[in-house]
Amino acid sequence: ATPLLEVEDLHLSYELRDRTVHALQGATLHVGRSEIVGIVGESGSGKSTVARAALGLLPWGVAHITGGAIRVEGADVTRFGPRQWPKLRGHPLAMVFQDPLSFLNPVVRVGRQIAEGVAKHDPGADRTRRVAELLDLVRLPAEVAQSFPHELSGGMRQRVLLAIALGCRPKLLVADEPTTALDVTTQADIIALLRDIRDTLDLSILLISHDLAVVATMCDRIYTMYGGHTVETGPTADVLRRPGHPYTYGLMQSARAVRDEHGRYATIPGQPPNLAVEFPGCPFSGRCPVEVEPCGTRFPPSARVSGAETHLAWCWRLVEQHAGDVAVTA
Ligand code: ATP
Ligand code: MG
Repeated sequence: ATPLLEVEDLHLSYELRDRTVHALQGATLHVGRSEIVGIVGESGSGKSTVARAALGLLPWGVAHITGGAIRVEGADVTRFGPRQWPKLRGHPLAMVFQDPLSFLNPVVRVGRQIAEGVAKHDPGADRTRRVAELLDLVRLPAEVAQSFPHELSGGMRQRVLLAIALGCRPKLLVADEPTTALDVTTQADIIALLRDIRDTLDLSILLISHDLAVVATMCDRIYTMYGGHTVETGPTADVLRRPGHPYTYGLMQSARAVRDEHGRYATIPGQPPNLAVEFPGCPFSGRCPVEVEPCGTRFPPSARVSGAETHLAWCWRLVEQHAGDVAVTA
């Protein structure tokens, strides 16, 4: 079956007045039907950029795709412009963000905001009934339809955003750090809700988080990003059992680690990569504890990590371990 979303070796830069940010230098991912897929990586690794590129939500005139491809249900949308993208928005692609207030209209009652999406994507539906159904689906009381956004808690607003997105009957829901601004309990509720929704509605979810624990509890498959590159992908259980990229391993160590004597969490030593230049090598070189010779000069091809055919890492050390066998793909 054709994947809902494919991003292939995407290169993208933000051209600012005084500098260029090479935000993506080889981002690759795909999302199939009814899958929950996660993207994890530290701040600045390009997670939001790849998601926004896949939804046509980049700043026009500033963001430039310089290589690679984006396909939605098999159709090439890499060169889509501001007139073509809106046709895909809501259906088949919908998105929820970290900050619901910036998306919700402060002077329009929540029920009406949900109804607008329904009217556009589901014109035959009984709007009042559908709004009630959607509120129920995201486990909000029916009275919330009469509320204004500022009258609701952060967790409730996130549910409203979800109801608006689901009202468009999306095939793929992209959730970019949907729980980061929320407290831990509310965070867990939203994650559980997303999982239930996937099971009930049979849609796909692309979940973005810098928190490996969130992604691990929720996702069937994960992608690790670093310095604008996809550096590892695989079924969540395989990646956690046997991380193939030293950066994924580092992320796992810092997620597990307890706070040090100064109350700080362990982080991977060293500096994040400088995105002002397009770097030909692996962006983790210089910070990597197991660096080998070509790492600083050439980005590696992907190599199989564990038994699963879909568990791959882009790492020269693995490539060298596999030298001579067929697991290495160019
Ligand atoms: P975070 O975990 O902090 O959300 P991220 O992985 O989502 O990080 P991106 O937001 O994709 O990272 O940013 C990748 C790089 O692109 C960063 O260096 C960021 O500063 C830069 N960037 C992102 N959006 C823009 C923009 N609109 N204009 C200029 N630079 C941008
Ligand atoms: Mg982000």
